[in-house]
Amino acid sequence: MTEPVMRNSLDPALRERAARVIPGGMWGHQKATQMPEGYPQFFARGEGPRVWDVDGNEYVDFMCSWGPIILGHRNPTVERAVDAQRAVGDCLDGPSEHLVDLAELMVRTIPHADWAMFQKNGSDATTSCVTMARAATGRRKVLVARGSYHGAVPWCSPSLAGVTAEDRAHVLHYDYNDVDSLAAAVRGAGDDLAAVLVTAFRHDIARDLEMPTRHFAQTMRALCDDAGAALILDDVRAGFRLHLGGSWETLGVRPDLAAWSKAIANGYALAAVTGGDRFREAAQKVFVTGSFWCSAVSMVAAKATIAELHAIDAPAYLERVGNRLRDGLAAQSRAHGVAIRQSGPAQMPLVLFEDDPEFTKGALFCRQALARGTYLHHRHNMFLSTAHSDADIDRALAATDAAFAAVAAAGG
Ligand code: PMP
Repeated sequence: MTEPVMRNSLDPALRERAARVIPGGMWGHQKATQMPEGYPQFFARGEGPRVWDVDGNEYVDFMCSWGPIILGHRNPTVERAVDAQRAVGDCLDGPSEHLVDLAELMVRTIPHADWAMFQKNGSDATTSCVTMARAATGRRKVLVARGSYHGAVPWCSPSLAGVTAEDRAHVLHYDYNDVDSLAAAVRGAGDDLAAVLVTAFRHDIARDLEMPTRHFAQTMRALCDDAGAALILDDVRAGFRLHLGGSWETLGVRPDLAAWSKAIANGYALAAVTGGDRFREAAQKVFVTGSFWCSAVSMVAAKATIAELHAIDAPAYLERVGNRLRDGLAAQSRAHGVAIRQSGPAQMPLVLFEDDPEFTKGALFCRQALARGTYLHHRHNMFLSTAHSDADIDRALAATDAAFAAVAAAGG
């Protein structure tokens, strides 16, 4: 099989320059060195379901900027609202009226929310939720699922570099979907339990995704109620993709506080905390702020995004196109005799290969798809956007068919 040729001259030149002035050439989760070989580090533009790297290679994008892009890159409705606001001001001496409009819109959209506050990053929102829970309860302990990601700050960062034992002193662990371990952790916190923090579903990197069971969610709610602790839903990654009212609406469980970011403003920098009246006073007391937290552009982007998500019933659309991709991949896997495991909600799929402990098959598969204009991830959940049409999915499936053939040829 001849492999299509990708243009690749500007990206290596930029990496070389970056290595001199940026520690490690790049930091965090968007390091291309953690992707299969051949993945670009630098991107030039995005439009709808597509992105272009600096060398001009075009891809159907299944990472959606790692979540923020839910309506497609440069959604025209969002961009019009953004352009109009940018023309009159973004970062002012205080918030614009859009702050109030947006808080009202979130309170109308999210059943558990009596109020909303806005920030920039998901880590701001998860950290604020924890601080508010501690302020409200006067307690210290916070339970976190082992392996869950909640942000890049010392109390929860996956790396211990630069982290002190004191930073983690009041963080206890339970296992996702395991009510016994949850109950044991609650007992371990004794009368010092401030909050239980949980992601919308188990989406830890490099393992199958796992939806929460209703029993797990309802038990968590009951344990928090018994202990007078806050149930904090970290909906940063999944928010608005599974359900516009919050990802646990379908389980019949409402959190006390929820953290949002990523998709709420279709790529503009915004995070939010939403909460119920019981936590209003604490939310008012804690000192949380940031120089850019009130920027008007991201607020109008969020207003336009949420209005559009409602108008097109985005979660249902994403599920439908996600299932088209999932069904297509399942058929190809059977046809090529290459076994895969697909997990997670169709809106945020993960594809792992059987007998692939080092993700070598996954990496080969993704490299082959990349060379055919399809940007996938080999061990992190991917993201669908409402800009993905059936034709885009089918174009991606043409690429994955060839990628499966390559994996089969390499010994499957
Ligand atoms: N919580 C979850 C579940 C996330 O997926 C992320 C980001 N990947 C965060 C928190 C932190 O968000 P941010 O990177 O915007 O700080």
